[in-house]
Amino acid sequence: MKNQFLTLLTLLLVFPACFAQQPKKPNASEIHESIKKLNFLGSVLYLAAHPDDENTRIISYMANEVKARTAYLSLTRGDGGQNLIGPEIRELLGVIRTEELLAARRTDGGEQFFTRANDFGYSKHPDETLAIWNKEDVLSDVVLAIRRFQPDVIINRFDHRSPGTTHGHHTSSAMLSVEAFDLTNDASKYPEQLNATTTWQPKRMFFNASYWFYGSQEKFDAADKSNMLSIDTGVYFPSSGLSNTEISSLSRSQHKSQGFGNTGTRGSSLEYIELIKGDMPKNANSVFDGIDTSWNRVKNGKAIGKLITEIEKEYDFKNPSASLPKLVKAYTLIQQLEDSHWKSIKTEDIKNVISACAGLYLEASAQHNWATINEDVNLTIEVINRSASNITLQSIVNPNNVSISKNINLENNTKFSFNEHYVIDSKAETTTPYWLTEQGSLGMYKVEDESLIGSPETPRSQNVTFNLVIENTTIPFTKPIVYKTNDPVKGEVYMPFEIVPIVASQLAEPVVIFENNTPKQVAVVVTAGKDNVEGTVSLNTPKGWTISPKSLAVSIGHRGETKTVLFTVTPPSSQSEVKITATVTVNGTTYSKGLNEIDYDHIPFQTVVMPQPSKFVRLDIIKKGENIGYIQGAGDVVPESLRQIGYHVAIISPDDITPANLKHFDAIVVGIRAYNTVDDLAYKQNVLFDFVKEGGNLIVQYNTNHRLKVDNLAPYKLQLSRDRVTDENAKVTFLDPKNDVLNVPNKITEADFEGWTQERGLYFPDAWGKEFTPVLGMHDKNETEKQGSLLVAKYGKGHYIYTGLSFFREFPAGVSGAYRLFANMLSIGKEDINTEPKLNK
Ligand SMILES: [Zn+2]
Repeated sequence: MKNQFLTLLTLLLVFPACFAQQPKKPNASEIHESIKKLNFLGSVLYLAAHPDDENTRIISYMANEVKARTAYLSLTRGDGGQNLIGPEIRELLGVIRTEELLAARRTDGGEQFFTRANDFGYSKHPDETLAIWNKEDVLSDVVLAIRRFQPDVIINRFDHRSPGTTHGHHTSSAMLSVEAFDLTNDASKYPEQLNATTTWQPKRMFFNASYWFYGSQEKFDAADKSNMLSIDTGVYFPSSGLSNTEISSLSRSQHKSQGFGNTGTRGSSLEYIELIKGDMPKNANSVFDGIDTSWNRVKNGKAIGKLITEIEKEYDFKNPSASLPKLVKAYTLIQQLEDSHWKSIKTEDIKNVISACAGLYLEASAQHNWATINEDVNLTIEVINRSASNITLQSIVNPNNVSISKNINLENNTKFSFNEHYVIDSKAETTTPYWLTEQGSLGMYKVEDESLIGSPETPRSQNVTFNLVIENTTIPFTKPIVYKTNDPVKGEVYMPFEIVPIVASQLAEPVVIFENNTPKQVAVVVTAGKDNVEGTVSLNTPKGWTISPKSLAVSIGHRGETKTVLFTVTPPSSQSEVKITATVTVNGTTYSKGLNEIDYDHIPFQTVVMPQPSKFVRLDIIKKGENIGYIQGAGDVVPESLRQIGYHVAIISPDDITPANLKHFDAIVVGIRAYNTVDDLAYKQNVLFDFVKEGGNLIVQYNTNHRLKVDNLAPYKLQLSRDRVTDENAKVTFLDPKNDVLNVPNKITEADFEGWTQERGLYFPDAWGKEFTPVLGMHDKNETEKQGSLLVAKYGKGHYIYTGLSFFREFPAGVSGAYRLFANMLSIGKEDINTEPKLNK
């Protein structure tokens, strides 16, 4: 079943974000726009790599001005980025960004699709991207999306001809799109897809050119545009009082986790699209030139087109229900179509128009926003017809497919409300994003049910169908069950109705680090989905590790309640990295998935139930120097990570950077991008340099050379660049093998650079004074060696270290080698406070 939530979305022109969870209630102008859209049978697919890549001006223009079915295929869900609104990263961030794209499409009128490709982080080149993604699988998903959506026109955001000039995911998206264009109509390609789809040939493909692909506006103005169409996306819609460019900004502003709030513009706004495949439109104003976008493209469609044209012309803005007789007639004709593609699309669309014209409100709401299997759910059903039309509620069909006869004559503006209950099927699936139920790889999500591939969300399983007789024709309207409540501040709040497991559990910390043999207590959080849950909690015990006790009883009285139990974990005596999962056994059934809530105002509330093992790391580490001062920059978890391995870390504000304060510290660490974000550091450099001169260690993590607040980043010449090594497995060579940071107190070897995550590092310096010693060399494929990732200089009696290595990413991932190397950086020059002889000189 196609996600019905989505088909509803295609209907509306503009919908304010704060009502994202509420049912749509289109007004007379919006209904009229939807009727016009019923008469257009053309489709545009916009294609790129990430949430936020899409050009919402074009999507909104195609959906609202051209009235085409318009969709955005984002190859990934954007898990690899940063989250500006909350703590979620990786998979949970991907869920938020999925919902933000859906919120954007609710605003601009498009639909949304994905592939199984995982946003694994920055990549410089499509070669790297396509090696980490399973290229064949992602290509197959692009072909599938095209065969299902059947676009006449595809518009790529990126240029397939310029690998290496932008994110590797970007170029890959365009390359796969170009490749798919020639495969989708070939029945020998991915034949298994043809059980549920048909072959399809898009008519043309464009690249959405922009000045930033040309280097500057001047260069783009001067470029040859004979192979380009220009589209004025600045059109004004009197029906909504908005310019298209204002709608596109509202849409773009849904990317709140990325801080992409956008201010609308008004007036003409040209977009250029360059023809990549197919023939150039003769009419320079239409991407659909030469394509029949009327009902004539469908067998027996002509009469429907004629009818809808009449409905559009005769539409009464004061009484939309006057259109009902002809709308129902058109609905009946659509049911007789042989073309299943347009039949299913236009059926959903015209049902939405019929419902809106009749002022229907159909709702099934539950007492809670979740339930568990076998639970008896009490539903409140509300049905109202707000038109003079003769409408009967014939029956309702509950989620277990049981039809309940009603035969209620729905008199104009008379509300009918009644209760129904049903027991949730014992085989009903937990409500959770389908792409997270199994653990995937770095580059790909694992999806067992192939019919779900490409869908933005898991289709809702708990729905109620209302069979209404309108104008002597039975029309079924299916609605997902909702939960609604009143919030004293927000007012009416709607939430989706979900099925949760009877019990969920997860370790409180995703990563636990042991710096020595000392046992640690770890907490397991257990959440009950129903009342009176009695179970036993246990942890898997990896070889060499000891966990006590073996199991713990847990008893939870009320649904939604959480209890915490504590285990003592003793690590082995040598270095070890393991995964530990908490399991709860209730009545012989084991539950081992964690439960997470995504709760933000701009997207629907939802739970994510997924495998959630924690990483346990026994480090083999020696530390010297205990007291660390940390100057925070753009925000990172390095201080917490250092505390986990036993350092005393004090956060020092710029005001506290005084000689008297600094002398208590063995080392000062500067947080990521501090010299880009903290103005006051401009006046503190000399204090920090004097601290080094007197014997302290100063470790500065990466900054960008854009908007640096200081002229002198280091006591010696140091020039930042954009050099980065994005391959987290790039080979690391020791340029100065005898250097203390590689030997004291921990002997660093190649093994310490195994298991790094996302990248090696970024914004490395590319020129430095002779006082600096470059310690490590590394490079991405087909690039020259970068030597600026770790630079050490003696200054006075102390040491200044500049490093672009991504410790801020490696620490929270529990990467042992990163901890050991950082301990050496903190220890450098501290051998005299220890009695051990120095190993290398
Ligand atoms: Zn992107």
